[in-house]
Amino acid sequence: MTSSRSRRAARLGGAALAAALLTATQATTALAAPGDPGEPRYSAGAPSLGDPYFPDQGNGGYDVRHYDVTFSYDPATKVMDATTVITAVATQDLDQFDLDFRGPQITSLKVGKHPAAYRRDGQELVVTPRPKLKTGETFTVTVTYAGTPPVVTDPDGSIEGWVPTDDGAFVPGEPQGAPAWLPANDSPADKATFTFRATVPEGVTVVGNGRLVSRTTADGTTTFVWDSAEPMATYLATVTLGNFVVNETTTPGGIPVYTAVDPRLVTQSAAAVARIPDILDYFSSIFGPYPFNQAGAIIDRAPNVGYALESQTKPIFSSAPGVGTMAHELAHQWYGDSVSVGKWSDIWLNEGFATYATWLWTEHTGGATAQQTFNSAGNYGRAATSSFWQIVTADPGPEDMFGNVPYNRGAMTLHALRGKIGDAAFFTLIKDWAAQHRYGNAGTADFIRAAEKVSGMDLKAFFDVWLFQKGKPASW
Ligand SMILES: [Zn+2]
Repeated sequence: MTSSRSRRAARLGGAALAAALLTATQATTALAAPGDPGEPRYSAGAPSLGDPYFPDQGNGGYDVRHYDVTFSYDPATKVMDATTVITAVATQDLDQFDLDFRGPQITSLKVGKHPAAYRRDGQELVVTPRPKLKTGETFTVTVTYAGTPPVVTDPDGSIEGWVPTDDGAFVPGEPQGAPAWLPANDSPADKATFTFRATVPEGVTVVGNGRLVSRTTADGTTTFVWDSAEPMATYLATVTLGNFVVNETTTPGGIPVYTAVDPRLVTQSAAAVARIPDILDYFSSIFGPYPFNQAGAIIDRAPNVGYALESQTKPIFSSAPGVGTMAHELAHQWYGDSVSVGKWSDIWLNEGFATYATWLWTEHTGGATAQQTFNSAGNYGRAATSSFWQIVTADPGPEDMFGNVPYNRGAMTLHALRGKIGDAAFFTLIKDWAAQHRYGNAGTADFIRAAEKVSGMDLKAFFDVWLFQKGKPASW
């Protein structure tokens, strides 16, 4: 993400709530009927995965494999009519499980072929499947709903979810917007493949993640089918729609690029769009192969949003981006999208990498060197008394997760690490990181272990100073 997000002091009380939820989960488990050995012991899946920043996010008891989302949407009425089919595998014997859903009214819900009882409690959609589900069983949940999907406001005051524009809708999902329009296991730890089948008035273009499978116009409407074949975290899903000028090209390195630009922003964004092939090929040379079968960008006019997001295969921009912002969001395809955090407190692994990638791009194209950017007034050149140094990089809190620290101190951490372990070890480390955790999740502890392994050095004190302590690092 690249943002000019305003900060708010709205504390979530996240840790306490997560602890309460975990206690409730433990209680449920303890109360499950003992049964005979080998017999199913049904219980409710956990209503949370315990993320300290967003304790309502994610659910236990199953693993989603695929989302198939069919909907119609009319920008004039702002009404969505949708059916989402979730294919999942039970990871415990389930008599109840939760989905995350903030969307409009549900008219029908089935598990397999059977209508299932459900209730809504905040963003929890509590489902009671009958027959019950056994461990290892693959099952489908079909949810039909209609109405206007909501705009979601984040702890830092910014908006996401389903954001109507003057010609359609801008659809960013980080960190908690996807359930505005999609019943889901909304945690970056549960990736899945996606198919979107979107029907809109003829003339409107729908741009989703992955590959455009078909585009069919009949009776005044057009249906777009987008397929995301590589696993994707829910927050990276988008089906942004409106009036777009579409261009398709292929980079010299062979990566297909699909760009959709609001006609009013074509001139302003031309320079950034023109550099997409060079940026992708340069990053491929230092980070390893581009991880997906499609690349691109969606440049829309959503003036009340004010940030860009690295939606998988097609980052979305709420205004015309500069080249640096484009580079940032494309770098996230490796770091953030393919390799994802499992919990949000590790956000520096996304934002520090994407910020450092832009430093490298700037140096590569003849601008400031990474060392000069490190030293600059907005980075290490900040006074030791600056409040900037008082936020912990590896745990900035939900209201500062998209503030300066995970971005700039995160990038400084990587540059300082490069100086500590040398260029050869550093570039091996970040390339291996992308390869070894491709389509998966990894956290700060994993990164520290990987850095120590590749360098053969004890780096605990180094990372302690840069990631876990407040204050301007004086030596490392
Ligand atoms: Zn970012």
